[in-house]
Amino acid sequence: MKKVYAKNCYSYDIKELKEAFDQIFNEKNEITNYIKANSKVLIKMNLLMKRKPNQVTTTNPAVLEALLLKLEALNCEVIVADSPGGLYNEKILKELYEICGVKDVVDRFDFASLNYDIRSFRKEAKNSKIVNSIDCIYPCKEVDHIISLCKLKTHAMAVFTGGVKNMFGVIPGLLKAEYHFKMPKIKDFTNLLVDIYETISPSLVIMDAIEAMEGEGPSAGNKKNVNLILASSCGHSLDVKACEIVNINPFKVPTIKRAFERGLINKNIKEIQLIGEELDDIKVLDFKKADIRSFDFFENYIPKFLNEFISNFLKPKPFIIREKCVKCKECMKVCPTKTIDYKNQNININLDNCIRCFCCHELCPIKAIGIKKSFLSKFIK
Ligand code: SF4
Ligand code: SF4
Repeated sequence: MKKVYAKNCYSYDIKELKEAFDQIFNEKNEITNYIKANSKVLIKMNLLMKRKPNQVTTTNPAVLEALLLKLEALNCEVIVADSPGGLYNEKILKELYEICGVKDVVDRFDFASLNYDIRSFRKEAKNSKIVNSIDCIYPCKEVDHIISLCKLKTHAMAVFTGGVKNMFGVIPGLLKAEYHFKMPKIKDFTNLLVDIYETISPSLVIMDAIEAMEGEGPSAGNKKNVNLILASSCGHSLDVKACEIVNINPFKVPTIKRAFERGLINKNIKEIQLIGEELDDIKVLDFKKADIRSFDFFENYIPKFLNEFISNFLKPKPFIIREKCVKCKECMKVCPTKTIDYKNQNININLDNCIRCFCCHELCPIKAIGIKKSFLSKFIK
């Protein structure tokens, strides 16, 4: 039976976090069930973009600190890494770690360091459906264990981002956009996300669900207190429980659906045991979901060719909010089809080549890209 641990934690106060970690792994340090003493560990945080911790876009650094305190006792060597959306170079990583508050924490621990190595390597895929191999950031190569230290957020394309989707960040820099380009359909793309998770296969998944992001996640939503730390050795199971907690139907989350289809977890989700808290006591019933922009929901009801036609017709469109745009051109760098340009002193999107991946919306630092839905799609929803 798969197990997910949950512990209430009402703030990022390190004392309270430490207690939550002690209760999850118990004071005798049961973390050794997942992470061996004297091992080399990569902590893969969610550092999507340069945002301060109180903007709830990234894993809070206080959760990292509590985890490092646990690993300290195991005499581990730790490397903390992520490849954010957009460019991946030393300068960007330096700014990212500083702004996200990660550098301050890591600097306090002798046995931990930040990754500035921007090399990548090719790893043969495991349990995969879509790819035979994946390109990964270099630190994945040299470690005994990987810990996914994710953040609970809604996601406009993938409905929800947690333990499984967090591993997309092991794909270096702009190669992420290339994957979007090659797999514009949500079903293929989320199968890819599951391929990546299975290939990287973290030993442990820990979720910062103290301050989550609701609404227009993963970067343009709002803070919502869920007041929990979750942990599991199975990212699929952890995602199922996290969804149940925030009142998202797990059967509507594409990465979880793919895991069911592929037999990676049992569709009988009652078989996933929640330990530490009672589900009914911790549910957040008024959690605002993302306004979903993928159209897989027709897939079981109408023929495939019609599904494609209707989806194209109904697809929402990204647009530039002129009064907000500061012309930083970040969206141009991350667009997989290079369909955003700068002409006549304006940023423009040519929708003919747009695959509706919404990377531009996700990574615009000041939320200056909106998404317009057709009247018909609103009506259908
Ligand atoms: S839309 Fe956003 S990312 Fe693109 S140029 Fe304007 S501010 Fe920068
Ligand atoms: S314009 Fe935006 S939504 Fe369209 S392909 Fe480029 S990044 Fe994706």
